[in-house]
Amino acid sequence: MSGFKKTNISLIIILLILILLRTNYFFSALFFSIPFIIYTILLFFGSKNICSQFYTKVKCTSEDKSKIHLTFDDGPHPKITPEILKILKKNNQKATFFCIGKNLEQFPETAKQIINEGHTIGNHSYSHSWYFDFFRTSKVTKELLKTNTLIKKITGENCKIFRPPYGITNPNIARAVKKLNMKVWGWNIRSLDTVKDKNQVLKRLQKAKPGDIVLFHDTKLKTPEILDNFLRLKSISE
Ligand SMILES: [Zn+2]
Repeated sequence: MSGFKKTNISLIIILLILILLRTNYFFSALFFSIPFIIYTILLFFGSKNICSQFYTKVKCTSEDKSKIHLTFDDGPHPKITPEILKILKKNNQKATFFCIGKNLEQFPETAKQIINEGHTIGNHSYSHSWYFDFFRTSKVTKELLKTNTLIKKITGENCKIFRPPYGITNPNIARAVKKLNMKVWGWNIRSLDTVKDKNQVLKRLQKAKPGDIVLFHDTKLKTPEILDNFLRLKSISE
């Protein structure tokens, strides 16, 4: 049972206990707001923290402890993705690219290159909309299906893995993923290559160890250089 279901059941039980207590003892109705406040806080952190497993099962580390698992979100990008592919090839590394459907439509050749070079493509929604977390289950399902169809059409591969935009999960996303029998991938190391400078990112990546799943973005100009440095430092330390 998911943490979300357990939380709902707990809330109902607590409310029933409070109703029963109020029939015998007088206390302010304001007490009823306390479980609701705690419930809202739990839901918020459950949504925000992708590895909380609150709404659905999420893979945040890999059972394969032979390597660090590199993942790249938001592409394919016509210039940056090929640069990253070059660095991966040079270092004999494989990665997973969580692509946005509308980018796949625009840059199918880059997507083909990803697959031809032995990497994996995952689903990162069709629109990556700012409002994705507010979409109904049917709309989330439609986005995932549209992107899976594009992946199949361009690369011939059946996609079974999904990374939610912004790393947010909620009941609608959980329902859509279950319906499509897809697995949700998170990460346990966020490079923060979208916001931090090169040295700060490299410092964050120092802790990466085999089995970890590292999140990068193949849409940031600095990411190829960061990746090159990171893989070089890793090969020296091994
Ligand atoms: Zn994203």
